[in-house]
Formats: sequence, C-alpha cells, structure tokens
Amino acid sequence: MAFEGLAERLQATLKKLRGKGKVTEADVKEAMREVRLALLEADVNFKVVKDFVNRVKERAVDQEVMKSLTPGQQVIKVVNDELTQLMGGSQSKLAQSHRPPTVVMMVGLQGAGKTTTTAKLARYLQKQNHHPMLVACDVYRPAAIKQLQVLGEQLNVPVFAKGENDRPVSIAQEAVTKAKEEHCDYVLIDTAGRLHVDEELMSELADMREAVSPDEILLVVDAMTGQDAVNVAERFHRELELSGVVLTKLDGDTRGGAALSVKAVTGCPIKFVGMGEKVDALEPFHPDRMAGRILGMGDVLTLIEKAQANVDAERAAELEKKIRQQQFTFDDFLEQLEQVRNMGPLDEVLGMLPGMNKIKGFKNLQVDENQLARVEAIVLSMTPEEKAHPEIINASRRRRIARGSGTQVQDVNRLLKQFNDMKKMMKQFTNMTKGGKRRRGGF
Ligand code: GDP
Repeated sequence: MAFEGLAERLQATLKKLRGKGKVTEADVKEAMREVRLALLEADVNFKVVKDFVNRVKERAVDQEVMKSLTPGQQVIKVVNDELTQLMGGSQSKLAQSHRPPTVVMMVGLQGAGKTTTTAKLARYLQKQNHHPMLVACDVYRPAAIKQLQVLGEQLNVPVFAKGENDRPVSIAQEAVTKAKEEHCDYVLIDTAGRLHVDEELMSELADMREAVSPDEILLVVDAMTGQDAVNVAERFHRELELSGVVLTKLDGDTRGGAALSVKAVTGCPIKFVGMGEKVDALEPFHPDRMAGRILGMGDVLTLIEKAQANVDAERAAELEKKIRQQQFTFDDFLEQLEQVRNMGPLDEVLGMLPGMNKIKGFKNLQVDENQLARVEAIVLSMTPEEKAHPEIINASRRRRIARGSGTQVQDVNRLLKQFNDMKKMMKQFTNMTKGGKRRRGGF
C-alpha cells in the first residue's frame, strides 16, 4: 500500500507529541529530526525535505502553538498543513475547454502506464457523462495501438487509429477534426513513448503541441521509480510545459517519495493517481486527503478547528483547577456540556476521531441528544445553592427539581449519582497524581 513505511514512521513520531500538555522547543526539534529521516527514507528529494522540516519547525515553535490548549496536536496540524502544501495545496482539476473538444496529450516514457492511464481517464470522464475519444499515436510500439483499441472496445469508447507508418502529428490533427464531427467532448491522445528522454521524442511532442494546441499535457510517470520519476517530470516540464502529472502504480509504491516531491521540484501539480491495473483504478488527487491518509488522522483537523473556535482556553484552565481542588459544581458541569455541544452534533464530532469509523457498529450509533437536553433541564431547575452544594439535595428537593424540569425523580437521582461518581473519580485521579509525585520524590 502507498506510503506504508512513511505513514508508520510519521505516526509513531507524532504520537509521542500528541498527548503532551506541554511541548518544548527541544521536543519539536527531536520530532523533526525523526520526520526528516522518515521523509528521506521514503525517497523524498533531499532539498524538499530540508525546506519542509524548516518550515514546520519555524511554525511549530511559534508562541501561539506552544501556548495553545493542545500543543502536541497543534504541531501535528502544522505537519499536516505543510504536507498538504507540499503536494499542491488544493486539488488541481482536469481542464475543460469552453469550446469542445478538450484536447489532452498524454506523454511519458515506455512502461510508465501511459496507454493504460489514457483508457482509465476515458473511463473517468465517461462516468461524468462526457464523451471521450481515444487516439492511438504511439506508432513506435505496435502493440500500443492494439492495446488501446481493445481497451476502447471494452469501455465502449471510440478509438481513432491509423497505420504504423502515419506521422503521429497528422494522426492527432485528423483525430481532433473527427472528434468534432462525432461530438466527442474530450480527445485523449496516447502519444509515443521512449525508453529514455531524447531530443527526437521531445521535438515530436513539441510539434504535436503546436499542431493541436492541447488544453492539457499530462505526464504519466511511474511512482515506483521514486526520484527518477521526479527527474523525468522535471525534464518533460522544461521542454513541454506540462499542465499536470499522473502518478501511476501508487498501489505498489510503499515509499511515496515521488508523490511528495513532484510538485515541489517541478511546480507541476499531480492531477491523478493510478491505484491498480483495472480501468477503474484512477483517482483524482487531493493533497489534503493524501496528507490525512499519511498521518492516519481521520478528520481530526476539523475537530481541532472546531475545538479552537468553541473552547475557551482560559476557561478550560480554570475548570481544570477546580477539578483539582474538588470545587467542581453543577454550573461547571453545565458549562462543559455547553462547550462540547457547541462543537456540533455529537455523533458528527465523534465521527471525526481517527479510528472511530473502524469501530464496529459506529455507523449505527445514535447519540441521544434528548438525553443531553434532559440533563440540562434538570441542572437548570436547581437553585444556585443546590448547584454549588449538591449534597443538600434531599428527597423533597429532588421531587421539586423533577417537576420543574419535566422529568422523573429517577432521572434526577441518576444524574446526582453520576455527578457524585464523577467527583469521586476526579478525587481518586488527583490523589493518584499527588501520590505519584510524592513517591517519585521519595525515591
Ligand atoms: P505504457 O508503455 O506507458 O503505455 O505502459 P502501459 O500502459 O502498457 O502499462 C505498463 C504496465 O503497467 C501494464 O502492465 C499496466 O497494467 C501497468 N500499470 C499501469 N498503471 C498501473 C497502476 O496504477 N498500478 C499498477 N499496479 N499497474 C499499473
């Protein structure tokens, strides 16, 4: 699977930061040393790694991050942001001409997966109700013409092909005319490949570009070749001004170095990735989602942003102090409830936690919002004195509270018991940490 090694290493490194209530500059430095090694091992271009690590370091030791409620999480957020930027920021979509057909030249070296990808792209467009036409211009590899014809038949997409002795440039020109006649809105040209980048290939491709003025020139490169793929992309981009890259065989590439370096090195965005041999195995490339996958994050980012927007750090610190001093009241309880609810529907909030979707039955889990509303009503029916000193709530007070909140006495009893249990737990917890400190001091 793609990025396997990198994902594992990055996740292990960042896990150390995740739970930390306090993160020092030294912690960040240490983590970045490991991130750097993980990226180098994933075969990411060394200059890209250097810039990346510097950027993350600079942003991570920023005061805002360090002083935040969850500094460990914030550092991870920075890594995630920067990974996303590295891969292009936002999704780069396939061009669509205002005056159809949209002409796409598919270029690349032999064996990269160019012919297969051309067919996959036709399939992708077909699913979006477009009418693509495939054009066989790879006249130097005779099998390529046949391969495209077979794929076209399989997909029920027209294939424009001529003999092996025809010039690719004129085949492409004829094809565009034909596509107009047949009302095809995309023309996908499978151009000739070579084993290596050479002058002849480049000048032929440049001639074709001149002749058909393509809306897109997509370079197909094999992700498994790592930095070679990046070098090929750089060369093609210099000669032809590519509009995008398609990375194939990402399903077999456990390192992912090419995916992480192509944009940074060439400035050319990745538009699609090939994830298998089947015609359906082509995915539009989303830098943010790919970064999320690498970091195994679920959608924690949205969760962090929601928490940032809704949880007041100062109030949270005050609350923590109260818990420690066992002065936690029903008013505090209500406030906490409110803050969590501000973040959105509870099942939605829980769904953003990584791994949550893997828990069996989670999709059927219904968080009972009514139950929360009942709890709130009970607390609101208490007098200020009762909220601050719940121990005074005797039987007659319980009956009054139940009546006032439209609930049953059993509901009030249950809440009081839960509140007491919670306080006991907090007490145990604070004793434990105090005891721990004392013991450590004693040794
Ligand atoms: P071309 O010479 O560039 O036209 O390459 P082909 O399209 O003939 O592909 C070369 C080989 O790579 C074929 O065996 C394809 O099935 C395989 N291939 C292409 N794309 C992918 C991909 O995304 N994943 C995997 N696993 N194999 C692929």
